[in-house]
Amino acid sequence: MAQEETHDKHWLIVSDLDGTLLDHFTYSHTAVDGLLRRLDDHDIPVILNSSKTRDEMIEIRRELGNRHPFIVENGSAIFIPAGYFPQAPDGARDEAGFWVLEPGAHRKALLEYLDRDSRAHGAPYLGFANATPGQIVDATGLSLEQAEAARTRHYSEPLLWRGTDKEKQAFCARARDAGLTTLEGGRFLHLLGDTDKGRATLQLLECYRHARPGDYMVVAAGDSPNDLDMLAVADIAVIIRGPHRQPPQLEETGSRRVIISQQEGPEGWRESIAPLVE
Ligand SMILES: [Mg+2]
Repeated sequence: MAQEETHDKHWLIVSDLDGTLLDHFTYSHTAVDGLLRRLDDHDIPVILNSSKTRDEMIEIRRELGNRHPFIVENGSAIFIPAGYFPQAPDGARDEAGFWVLEPGAHRKALLEYLDRDSRAHGAPYLGFANATPGQIVDATGLSLEQAEAARTRHYSEPLLWRGTDKEKQAFCARARDAGLTTLEGGRFLHLLGDTDKGRATLQLLECYRHARPGDYMVVAAGDSPNDLDMLAVADIAVIIRGPHRQPPQLEETGSRRVIISQQEGPEGWRESIAPLVE
């Protein structure tokens, strides 16, 4: 990479976690540890961007030795370590040593929306806010600990759908009309604000541009359809192969290169990204 040769050319790597930087089954990141250290030596930030919550992200970030901003709950909030840039971005608030930007909606607003919507249309779902951890365990097969983690979200509400597909489509259309977003996860339908991983990536990129003007080469890595918004805003989209399905499809364009890994998970991450830095 030409980072050392010119000071106005910057690389930024934005990455999903589960199935991408972390192994789908074991959550291991051993395969990428050496490469992450080399990226640090090259002063290339790796931005973690996933559906996880702030607390989950802080733990993983500590484990990975990552000191850069991160994006939580599918683009809902951007956490920047206080002092990371010379100035706090406009509109950022302080929280636990971070400057926080919130393109998404607060969960309280989402729960108020659900309350209004359910009065008119019923609630054919188990909403986590109204369920006990025990009920979530019974309904999902999650461990009690996972169920607790799933309940402590700040910008989204997971719904275990119990109605028909038609009811679900109508629910999603009403949410869209109300300026909200629904996202199909593996097991849950997530209700969140009008944001996605890609839009939050662009907002953070603007913070970098403001602090360090120059040309940015954005590399994004993900393994799922809900990573496509993030992959689509990158100059180099790295699609990581997974064990259960075909990799999501994204077209190459004049300005976007697409790499599909041969290996799965973190091995695929290393295989795809290492040649860019060496
Ligand atoms: Mg993933």
